[in-house]
Order: sequence, then C-alpha cells, then structure tokens
Amino acid sequence: METRKKSDGSSENIIELRNLRKVYRVGDEKVVALDDISLDIKRGEFCCLLGTSGSGKSTLLNLMAGLEKPTRGTIRIKGEAIEKMSEKKLAKFRQEHLGFVFQSYNLLPMLTALENVSLPLIFKGVPRAKRDKRAREMLKAVGLSTHEKHKPSQMSGGQQQRVGIARAFVAMPEIVFADEPTGNLDSKTTREIMELITRLAREHNQTLVIVTHDLQIAGYADRIVHILDGNIEKIEINNTRGGSNEEADNNNISSTDPVPAGV
Ligand code: ADP
Ligand code: MG
Repeated sequence: METRKKSDGSSENIIELRNLRKVYRVGDEKVVALDDISLDIKRGEFCCLLGTSGSGKSTLLNLMAGLEKPTRGTIRIKGEAIEKMSEKKLAKFRQEHLGFVFQSYNLLPMLTALENVSLPLIFKGVPRAKRDKRAREMLKAVGLSTHEKHKPSQMSGGQQQRVGIARAFVAMPEIVFADEPTGNLDSKTTREIMELITRLAREHNQTLVIVTHDLQIAGYADRIVHILDGNIEKIEINNTRGGSNEEADNNNISSTDPVPAGV
C-alpha cells in the first residue's frame, strides 16, 4: 500500500484498515455496525475512537484486535492481514503483539492481583520465577505493590483497573487496545488511570487505541477519530493533549537556552 513505509520508526503504520464493513444479522434484521472504514494508525501513536453509544466504536476495536471478523475489508497489523489468519495463528499473534484493557476489568475473581497480572506470561510460556518478577515490577509500576495478594473483590474499581492495565502491559505488547477503560470510574480516578496508561505506553513507544464517548478522555490522545453511524465523521489532531509533551526537556533543564513561548 502506498502509505506503508519501511519500519524506520515514527512513520510506520502499525495498523492499516481498508474499507472495513461489519454487518450483524439478528433474526431477519441486518444491523450495519460499521459501514466503510479506512484508517491508518502509526507506531507509538495514541489514537482515540470517539462517538456516542451504538456508533460502532467497540465493533471497530474488536475487529482491529482480531476478536471479530469483518464482513468485508482488510485489517493489517504490522503488515499482516489478520482477518485471513487461522484462529491458532491469530491467538499467537495477539499474545505476542497485543494487549487489552476492558471496561469491566475482566479479572479472574479467584486469582490474586499478582496471578491476574501473570496470566499473559503464563500463556506465553514464561517460566515461573521470571514471570513473578515481571508481574511484581508491573504491579509496582501501577502503584499496587502492597496489593499483590488481594483478590479483585478486595480492591476498589480503580485498583482493579490498575491490575487490568498491569496485565495489559506485562508482556510488552506493541499495541494496547482499551474499550471504555474508565467507564465505571469517577472522574478523579479516570484522570489517574488515563495518566497511568499514557505514561506506560509512552515509556516504550507503544501504540494505544482507546474507545470512549468521553471528551475528557479523548483529550489525552494524539488523534481523535470521530465515529458516527459506522463511519468516520472526522479526524482531529490534538496538539494540546493532556499532560506535557516536553517531559524529556524537563530532565535536562540547564542544557539549552529557554525555548520562546509559543514555538
Ligand atoms: P458502540 O461501542 O459505539 O456503543 P457497538 O460497536 O457496540 O457500538 O455497536 C454498533 C451497532 O452494532 C449497534 O447498533 C449494536 O446494537 C450493533 N451490534 C454490536 N454488536 C452486535 C452483535 N454481536 N450482534 C448484533 N448487533 C450488534
Ligand atoms: Mg462500546
């Protein structure tokens, strides 16, 4: 495809969607969940899919994440057409490259926080000692070192979502998908969770695709893709995204002359 460049860093399209259509059949009725969607997402980008309930956001995310098959169209991730993969190959591809954060956390209730975070590493066949170490580091990164042995029912919603985020990032996926990750949380916890997700993703230049109906959350993204009735209504570039884009410079305050304001 003409938009795909060599993997030389920032210009690489890690996700390429072409003419995606998804029609559900319910009894005799057809529901056009996605009409005709084409979209590129770059490596390291934070892209938000914004729209009202029923606009097709979750369907689009599930297609990108290989959880559902399109009725028509192609989904390329890292150049591979995932809609053509066998279930087995797709499962492996997801394990290796993709992470997920769910609105309802989807933690296993009988497992501890540490065990929940370890799950993707178990599926990948990482040995016990190594995965415990890695899962501990991840729980620390989300501020839950003191809650390793807690079960989901012994944690608040915000804490459960931190565990969900630790689980999504533990295997170092290149892309993390999140569907309304703060949908069940109050606005202060929402801010904390959004800052956590964006910080983690930026640390390793991971690509983030978040579905939301919430403008506050969209404000954290680099690009806001407005979804309306199964189509892209418009795409906004967000130059004022939540938090600072100049963090690297702050570690380095004395090294250069101050940059004039407004540049
Ligand atoms: P959003 O996430 O933006 O709220 P969805 O992608 O969940 O929207 O749904 C888009 C449309 O597709 C809605 O009309 C919804 O009812 C329909 N839909 C979604 N999933 C299914 C399904 N599994 N079976 C039938 N219809 C579905
Ligand atoms: Mg949805």
